Amino acid sequence: MRQSQLFTKTRREAPSDEVSKNAQLLIRAGFVSKEMAGVYDYLPLGLRVMDNIRQIIREEMNAIGGQEVLLSALQDPEIWKMSNRWDDEKVDVWFKTKLKNDSELGLGCTHEEPMARMLREYISSYRDLPRVTYQFQTKFRNELRAKSGIMRGREFLMKDMYSYHRNQEDLDAFYEKAIQAYKNVYERAGIGDKTFVTFASGGMFSKFSHEFQTICDAGEDIIYINDEKGIAVNEEVLQDDILAGLGITRESLREAKSIEVGNIFKYGTRYTSELGVTFKDENGEDQIPVNGAYGIGLGRLMGTVVELLSDEKGIVWPESIAPFKYHLVNAMPNNADAVSYADELYDLLTLRGASVLYDDRDARAGEKFADSDLIGIPYRIVVGKEALEGKTLEVVSRATGEVIRVDREELLPQ
Ligand code: ATP
Ligand code: MG
Repeated sequence: MRQSQLFTKTRREAPSDEVSKNAQLLIRAGFVSKEMAGVYDYLPLGLRVMDNIRQIIREEMNAIGGQEVLLSALQDPEIWKMSNRWDDEKVDVWFKTKLKNDSELGLGCTHEEPMARMLREYISSYRDLPRVTYQFQTKFRNELRAKSGIMRGREFLMKDMYSYHRNQEDLDAFYEKAIQAYKNVYERAGIGDKTFVTFASGGMFSKFSHEFQTICDAGEDIIYINDEKGIAVNEEVLQDDILAGLGITRESLREAKSIEVGNIFKYGTRYTSELGVTFKDENGEDQIPVNGAYGIGLGRLMGTVVELLSDEKGIVWPESIAPFKYHLVNAMPNNADAVSYADELYDLLTLRGASVLYDDRDARAGEKFADSDLIGIPYRIVVGKEALEGKTLEVVSRATGEVIRVDREELLPQ
């Protein structure tokens, strides 16, 4: 991608009403644009990051047997009445709308109900289980406060996964695999070292649900960590009897602000029983599948990475989700030799499959470097005097500032 052609430009200031660091940096660097509070557009750079995150999650969910689907955003109130979740008292984040004939529709905030209803079509025998589906789908939630930038959207992309099993043991075994898959996602996205599996209140059929909480001062949550045992609990379950059950005491806990980057649940037969899903077991008896649900907010995850991996100059993307691997900067855009050198290097790099943003703009080197720091691509390749004199190229690591000098040939992927 040539930066002179890029749809976005960097800007000095974020909108004055934007209070969160993640959105300020992402807007200034041109990754996202703000429509209104809690509503953001993803622009070319931001979409590349989202796609990288999506791909990591997709690989991990496929690895545990998930099958990707895409369900509708418009939802039928009837199925939500079956589970008693249509009522605004029960779910306080509903966005609802109406057909021309005045009948109501929901804008999906989650998909347990439609997924369970659909299962009725495809499950009849124990041989049809387990089944695991997941999607990347836009959720709508009428959040009371939206001050955390892309970490709390009123419209946001979620990966939600649903699993259905013949019995509790099968759900339990899958649930453990899902925990590991989630850990892999956070590890690969660069926030594994700060993310804790956290005991949270469980709802009806299991004692706990599990949240994935990333330690960060910008977080809206608080967790309590026992470092010795590597156990964390959230505020809902901070009760002496529960702590005793986990083998920890209140005194052993340290408090930390955190961001909920994921949440997984065992529902037992909730939703499947309410939506009337049954299957025949080996004896021909009707049974109800047990189910679990597993969510990750992609914008929440991207925002968390920005909160944690940034400095006074801008964003510091981990290579795994960065919009590009290399930022090729021509520091002498008025020099014809430098232009042809940089053009040629850009062509070669892209031809050989490297992902490169090429700053070919007619601008001062200082301005280009400042933009490069703001955008946060992992490796900056500088075309300057040294390169032209046939010596070495300067490659600067955004994360460490380390300068490596390499021959042009060394840089090219084989
Ligand atoms: P919160 O407590 O932060 O409001 P939640 O518990 O209501 O979140 P879940 O229903 O558990 O959210 O959704 C699954 C995941 O989706 C969350 O763990 C989080 O990563 C993400 N998520 C939830 N709400 C939002 C939002 N408004 N914007 C972006 N991501 C979100
Ligand atoms: Mg949650």
